[in-house]
Amino acid sequence: MSFQSIPEILERLQIEALYQQQPIQRLLDCWQEVVGKVIATQTRPISIERDVLWVATSGAAWAQNLTFERQRLLKKLNKILPTPLVDIRFSTARWQPTKKKSSTQLKISSLDHPSYLGKVNNLNQNLNLHYPPKNPDLAFANWSETIKTRYSSLPLCPNCQSPTPKGELERWGVCSICAARSF
Ligand SMILES: [Zn+2]
Repeated sequence: MSFQSIPEILERLQIEALYQQQPIQRLLDCWQEVVGKVIATQTRPISIERDVLWVATSGAAWAQNLTFERQRLLKKLNKILPTPLVDIRFSTARWQPTKKKSSTQLKISSLDHPSYLGKVNNLNQNLNLHYPPKNPDLAFANWSETIKTRYSSLPLCPNCQSPTPKGELERWGVCSICAARSF
């Protein structure tokens, strides 16, 4: 087994990711130019799967009309793309009204996660902890006390009897691990 440094591995992963996203990224960059401004606002290229481009449209009529035009669009697109597409499929299925990707990602808060347990600081205030820990043993004691307190107040998963965050029970009826197993 050969050892690689983490930066080396990360760099390789980034390069691989770049190669994987390249065709769709390139397509997104030139989409408006190819289809025109009006169509561009009503459509969004979603993915390329086995040389078929999937495009979300804002409505069924757009999907229908563009399907008739797909040969013309294919010709234009294949002049730009490194690997030619064989077809384009239009569908309203994956259409979402325009929203800024970054802002929706930021809005996802740990509060919304079913495994959220409340602020750790609040829990720690009720504990008899030694801060800052003076040695590794005390640090470990602090940590295990925190975990114990955090989990002792939790309801048990009806399936595996593990302490489970309430949000998980509300969502799945069991803990996240049992839920994942049943998927
Ligand atoms: Zn469980």
